[in-house]
Amino acid sequence: MSGIVTSAGNPLVRFWAEFLADRQAVVEPVAAGAEGPDSLATLLEPALANRLGTAEDPRLVFDARQPGTFAGLGSEPLERALTLVDETVPVAYGLVDDVHLRGKNLDQDLARDFTFTRCQPAGLDPVSTLIPVTRIGFRLSMTGDETRERLLTMDVLEVGRRILPPGRGLPDGLDPVPLPADDPRLTAFLPAADLLAAVEPSALARAGEEARTFQQTLQHRLSLDLARLEDYYSELLRTLDGTRRRQALTPAERDARRQAIEADFRRQVEDVRSRSALRAGLRPFALLRVLTPAWRVRVTMRIGKHRRPEEFLWTPFERRFEPYHCPACAAFTTRIEGTRDGRLLCPACADRL
Ligand SMILES: [Zn+2]
Repeated sequence: MSGIVTSAGNPLVRFWAEFLADRQAVVEPVAAGAEGPDSLATLLEPALANRLGTAEDPRLVFDARQPGTFAGLGSEPLERALTLVDETVPVAYGLVDDVHLRGKNLDQDLARDFTFTRCQPAGLDPVSTLIPVTRIGFRLSMTGDETRERLLTMDVLEVGRRILPPGRGLPDGLDPVPLPADDPRLTAFLPAADLLAAVEPSALARAGEEARTFQQTLQHRLSLDLARLEDYYSELLRTLDGTRRRQALTPAERDARRQAIEADFRRQVEDVRSRSALRAGLRPFALLRVLTPAWRVRVTMRIGKHRRPEEFLWTPFERRFEPYHCPACAAFTTRIEGTRDGRLLCPACADRL
């Protein structure tokens, strides 16, 4: 897994800076200037240098034409670093058996959670099962004119690859029974990289909510800074008009100066805006993957003259049924429609018949 990073600027430089800082290396960004694009001056532990295949004090560059150790896309040090990241996000597996299932009223919950059109549930037969849930610890770093970090945890229901709402996930103070590495039930879990890729957009959205307060602070400072700039430059332009009254400048010189002032103003505004734009990066730092009890409810569905066995999943987190997985388009839906030939589809697929 390569981590989840959204950033303006060069995300590779950020990746390396964080990757090395996490591993007790000394990292010194060398800002873009006469020498060309950004690079990183570093000092690494011998073991880390060895794993990366570099010297112990490589200067990491991201433009292969620069002198130094190229660490950009396709480079060997980057490949090796990504392998290390894969190895080092700790993943623990366990079994939670103290989540209590409530077996009553499943038929009422089914009627509440789904709309059935041209089909009806007839008999329910609940069977206790174990489903995979992963608690992902993310590190959220928010950079504006300063950097703030927060740790977030999100619980992902792997069936449906859905992040559970805050407060409705795994219980706090979770104490799972560890599962041995050769436990056959581990196959119930999605590959970690797939899981992370699947939840990335919604994890970023969730982190965005967390970042909103910080963004408001930035917005407030931005409006103050813009107001100050406007005052300053309108004062400059007024002074220029004063000069004109004294006829010290020719009209052409005046225009040139005015244009220079306005161009400078636009540059400054751009600069202030880019400094106060929020860049948020979200990186997983630990995964706790547990099997937890749920009801797998076998339901006989009556669809016209047809009878069809179906399975619905009831989870204790939100005490409700998970949306139905349409067999035709793979979308999740809570509106199920029976078809003439006895299938159960989502409304969009049923309409296409
Ligand atoms: Zn469908």
